[in-house]
Amino acid sequence: MRVYLSKLNGDRTAAQEIVAELSNRQRLVRVVRGGAATALMTLFVLPIPGLHFVLVPLFLLATVWIAVKRWRSNFVVQLDAVLCPECGQELKCGAVYFGRDGGVIYCGQCRARVVVAIG
Ligand SMILES: [Zn+2]
Repeated sequence: MRVYLSKLNGDRTAAQEIVAELSNRQRLVRVVRGGAATALMTLFVLPIPGLHFVLVPLFLLATVWIAVKRWRSNFVVQLDAVLCPECGQELKCGAVYFGRDGGVIYCGQCRARVVVAIG
């Protein structure tokens, strides 16, 4: 798998081999870690009078949303040494997780939106 970066509505850069596909076990570990964090937050807001009627359902929904989002993220892209298509400096984003349809990140130097496509 390769990754292509581009500006919004701009041309793609050359493909770079910095994509690793996660195994189902690695995805499951990410789901459990992310889900456990928000599930713990649910336990912390449980004793708050009044507010728990709002916060408990909110954190439970967040747990499901995070779990689904993490399960669908089956690629990890190393974006540390990759150059921004807008300003030409290193992105310094570290490891970023994406689903099959890629996504958008922000350059740490110029704040430009950078479109990430995997294919
Ligand atoms: Zn930039």
